[in-house]
Amino acid sequence: MRIFPLKIKVDSYKTNWSCRFGAPRAPGRKHGGCDLAAAVGTPVYAVDDGEVVEVSSKFKYDTSVVSIEHGDIYDDDYCIVRYGEVDTVMVSLGAKVKKGDMIAKVGKQPGGTQLHLEMYSGAEIGPFLQENNAPYKRRNDIMDPTPFLDAWPPKT
Ligand SMILES: [Zn+2]
Repeated sequence: MRIFPLKIKVDSYKTNWSCRFGAPRAPGRKHGGCDLAAAVGTPVYAVDDGEVVEVSSKFKYDTSVVSIEHGDIYDDDYCIVRYGEVDTVMVSLGAKVKKGDMIAKVGKQPGGTQLHLEMYSGAEIGPFLQENNAPYKRRNDIMDPTPFLDAWPPKT
């Protein structure tokens, strides 16, 4: 069983309208992830074993993003999780991580802070960000993380 990426389960991704997957953003754009409200510096954990496939310091408001492939590509459970709006990244590109490893901390930004979490099925390849691919402006294999976040227990 995968785990929730924060030590304490929060439900902002359901109860706060703007934190939900698909919430309207700028005209023609929808939110491509779930926002998990948390204070700056809150540790972020890998939801499962995996391999780091993206580390970038060019995310919203000078935060960073880490993407990890979880599961085997031949496995039904395969997915890629993008952990965004973080800083203090503790993993590097190509690193193997274990479930529950601390990979980063929730980053500073104006207003509320949160882990912005995106999921991809792996049915496509290519860059996650696709500026002309409305409404999410993301790759077509983007998934709604909500049912997964609901099911994942916190790290013990
Ligand atoms: Zn978000």
